[in-house]
Amino acid sequence: MSATGGSEMLEAVAIDGPAGSGKSSVARRIAAVRGYLYVDTGAMYRAVALAALRQGIDLESPDAMFALFKNLNIAFDASGERLLLNGEDVSDDIRAPEVARNVKFAARLPAVRSAMAAAQRAMADQRPVVMEGRDIATVVLPGAKWKFFLTARPEVRAHRRHAEMLAAGREASYDTILEDIRRRDESDFQIGPMRKAMDLANNNGGIELVDTSDMTPDEAVHHILDRM
Ligand code: C5P
Repeated sequence: MSATGGSEMLEAVAIDGPAGSGKSSVARRIAAVRGYLYVDTGAMYRAVALAALRQGIDLESPDAMFALFKNLNIAFDASGERLLLNGEDVSDDIRAPEVARNVKFAARLPAVRSAMAAAQRAMADQRPVVMEGRDIATVVLPGAKWKFFLTARPEVRAHRRHAEMLAAGREASYDTILEDIRRRDESDFQIGPMRKAMDLANNNGGIELVDTSDMTPDEAVHHILDRM
């Protein structure tokens, strides 16, 4: 069954949702099962923030940020798993909390968003994708055959992030992570592109709501696969 119905739709899965909702691991696994390309659009916005931090650009200045952005080359390697910034693999560096905290300065710029969306659409034109982000179902791939909004309670999301960081050997405080998640929700939901997706998901507007709070990753993956 299709989550959206209709014909002539793009062979693509759009997965939106807030930080820590489980969308990356779920999207990755669905891509592997279906043989689709996995595309993490958040990584692309993170790369802009990383470049700005490295170059000491004034993050609050839209002009300075856009001037920087225009000269960046942001691409994935062939596997779709590694993010290259001007040819350098920055896949690990973009995960730093400082990058997450500052990514909103890139994400709020309309000129950056439209260039990102065009690049992401071009990827989906090449081959079937599972694309995850904040505006995939609403802006980037509104014609995607399957659209999902993954969410979970903030405390559950913070617990997952915390466990991930500890497993990766990184120091982490649960309280700081929860605070960061709440702050990111505020900018993603209030000034970011995610509110529309959430509203549509809550009102049967063609995006299927998946609350993963009480699901294991396996259950979330099967829940979605069952609906495709
Ligand atoms: O998904 P991830 O948490 O890595 O995304 C980092 C940030 O990039 C988000 O908090 C959001 O501000 C921004 N983003 C966005 N649009 C997307 C993906 C991410 O604005 N499609």
